[in-house]
Amino acid sequence: MTDTPTQLFIGGAWLDAADGATMPVDDPATGEILCHIADAGPKDARLAEEAAVQAQEEWARTAPRARSEILRRAYEIILDRTDELAHLMTAEMGKPLSEARGEVAYAAEFFRWFSEEAVRIDGGAGILPDGRNRMLLSRRPVGPCLLITPWNFPLAMGTRKIGPAIAAGCTMILKPAPQTPLSSLALAAILKEAGLPDGVLNVVTTSRAGEVCEPLLRGGRMRKLSFTGSTAVGRLLLAQSAEAVVRTSMELGGNAPFIVFEDADLDKAVDGAMLAKMRNMGEACTAANRFFVHHSVAEEFGRRLAERMGGLVVGPGTRDGVDVGPLIDRTGRGKVEALVADAVERGARVLVGGRTPEGPGCFYPPTVLTDVSPESRLMDTEIFGPVAAILTFDDEDEVVRRANDTPWGLVGYVFTEGLDRALRISERLEVGMVGLNTGLVSNPAAPFGGVKQSGLGREGGRVGIDEFLEYQYLAVPVG
Ligand code: NAP
Repeated sequence: MTDTPTQLFIGGAWLDAADGATMPVDDPATGEILCHIADAGPKDARLAEEAAVQAQEEWARTAPRARSEILRRAYEIILDRTDELAHLMTAEMGKPLSEARGEVAYAAEFFRWFSEEAVRIDGGAGILPDGRNRMLLSRRPVGPCLLITPWNFPLAMGTRKIGPAIAAGCTMILKPAPQTPLSSLALAAILKEAGLPDGVLNVVTTSRAGEVCEPLLRGGRMRKLSFTGSTAVGRLLLAQSAEAVVRTSMELGGNAPFIVFEDADLDKAVDGAMLAKMRNMGEACTAANRFFVHHSVAEEFGRRLAERMGGLVVGPGTRDGVDVGPLIDRTGRGKVEALVADAVERGARVLVGGRTPEGPGCFYPPTVLTDVSPESRLMDTEIFGPVAAILTFDDEDEVVRRANDTPWGLVGYVFTEGLDRALRISERLEVGMVGLNTGLVSNPAAPFGGVKQSGLGREGGRVGIDEFLEYQYLAVPVG
């Protein structure tokens, strides 16, 4: 902790907030304050904006190979410092160290991936159909970007945006979540060390998100917003972006169905459920939120899942052998408690868990609910906690209809041993991603994102860089 930056990173310099404000960062495992960091206000936002705008032209002209090599160096530094970064992430976010190490590798991979994409930005040339004009097509950076990230993957949600922005030649302001700013500040220090020019990345940590971001979006000098967070906030930011017609990429909430057919391999289904539900203590947009299990295997699936969930060790993420850390804060835990209470009131049976432990920290036990009523609030609310809610179904049409009966469409999981059925059901699900007999879809080489109210655009994969590029077409008469 002692070497971790705690100031704003603007124009390549570490600065206090202009009004001297600071804010605490808490350890969710103990409730204690880890440290205080700079708390930016509108003045600091203007300074960051100026830095990003000033740096844009030169950065856009920087050779793609040079941009690529900065990302590659940063990738290597991150991997070298895996342990240090994992400890920092666990301290501010709570996830067990093993998961934090996994996130460091995942986060670093976005830099490696986009270091490879930076040198593959292509254009085109040709004669137009009328034969009178040539077309020269080039791809240019969209311009200064505002990147807003959530707390659940403190490092990876940043690198998934910063990687393609650097590769494309965009400058940026990153506003991380106030619960987990330290990973982003450490990342800024690494990028500086890797040779990123001053002003290309600016990090403003703040407890005053609206005051800092709204003028940036409405002002029109930021040309792009890339946001990851809840659908409610996404909607608000879309409205703010409309004024200056700012381009947007939105990675929003989910309400993933997890469907287990009668011909599923139940070992695979339970393994998949553990991943899809328990990665990040259930605090993931990809978390399975509604388990639809064919009535003929529901009891067996519930029994096996409850056994595995009940065997998980809950405790501070830094302790050896811990599988499940604390939830992010008391508000997050309170929401999970209320959703479980509501489901139980409507007739759900608790197979395991369901009771908040005494003591400090925001712990909540792995919980399996069965006989969940479709009217329960957790059916149309992201649980964002370690609670698996099981409902039963009878046939394909019914389960597809119920799975799609939600405004969200990020990811779905399908477990069946039948190839035809696997493809048929996957194609009928209104989602951006499907895990077929697997509980994990995230990969830097794949396009991540959702349909409906789960978002706009994709991050990662070959298309991830497109979000940060514009086409320019030159018409040149054929001489
Ligand atoms: P959130 O409340 O929407 O916050 C996300 C970020 O937006 C935070 O940095 C937050 O800062 C900021 N923010 C909130 N109001 C703002 C405003 N008026 N102007 C500018 N920024 C504002 O979401 P969260 O609770 O941190 O994260 C959980 C949500 O993220 C879940 O819905 C989850 O599904 C979603 N998520 C989606 C993906 C994906 O790829 N689709 C990935 C991870 C998470 P403050 O906290 O200071 O307001």
